Amino acid sequence: MIVVKTREEIELMRESALIVSKTLGMIAKEIKPGVTTLYLDQLAETFIRDHGAIPGFLGLYDFPNTLCVSPNTQVVHGIPNNTPLKEGDIISIDCGAIKNGFYGDHAYTFGIGTIAPEIEKLLQVTKESLYVGIAEFKLGNRVGDVGYAIQQYCESNGYGVVRELVGHGLGKKMHEDPEMPNYGKRGRGKKFIEGMVVAIEPMINLGTHRIKQHNDGWTITTLDNKPSAHFEHNVAIIDGKPELLSTFGYIYEALGMVSDEEDVFRKKALVL
Ligand code: MG
Ligand code: MG
Repeated sequence: MIVVKTREEIELMRESALIVSKTLGMIAKEIKPGVTTLYLDQLAETFIRDHGAIPGFLGLYDFPNTLCVSPNTQVVHGIPNNTPLKEGDIISIDCGAIKNGFYGDHAYTFGIGTIAPEIEKLLQVTKESLYVGIAEFKLGNRVGDVGYAIQQYCESNGYGVVRELVGHGLGKKMHEDPEMPNYGKRGRGKKFIEGMVVAIEPMINLGTHRIKQHNDGWTITTLDNKPSAHFEHNVAIIDGKPELLSTFGYIYEALGMVSDEEDVFRKKALVL
């Protein structure tokens, strides 16, 4: 069952999303060779609590930490540890927070220092595919339209689209209806309605779309051990159109980057 949100509830969800956005911005400043993911995890937990929120992943389905950290060949759901990051790595950082009873949940894949051009392109295309998908999240469209758009965009670049893991509705629960696959057929699946809020999150592999689950019960890596990227935003349908609740703006600010990629999906400009 799709739980539609009121305008007031969507504004509360924007608050939750922005706490995650700010956490990822803080993380962006800290990510460098030699830093461990467990250190980043502890920073994130403190930051979220200092902002009057609760880590959204900690304890959810018994996940042991605040961040899911998935370097290189890991797709998603990696557990923070004491292995230092090194130059040339990539790492997907997925973060959740609960404020006012609502979840925020989004992710960004960072490069550590200089990364190989083919991996840089994987990150770029995966992030572009996220916006290609978001553009289809509007009144009159269906779940399959978003999945189709993301799949076409990524496969036309030769990449593998993970099948087993999908985006989702978001609200008072972390995973609400509908499931939002990153593959699909045009015009198929549930119809989008005003007030829906979802997490759209392409998980895209440089090689095969196939994955394997590790015996820690969490970590998922690509079957061919090639790199994988993951970008996620939280989006509502307002006045029939996609409205971003999350932002990568804090990350870009931390990294000294400028981007207008989000502007088209926001009614009024976001002041960081
Ligand atoms: Mg997430
Ligand atoms: Mg998610």
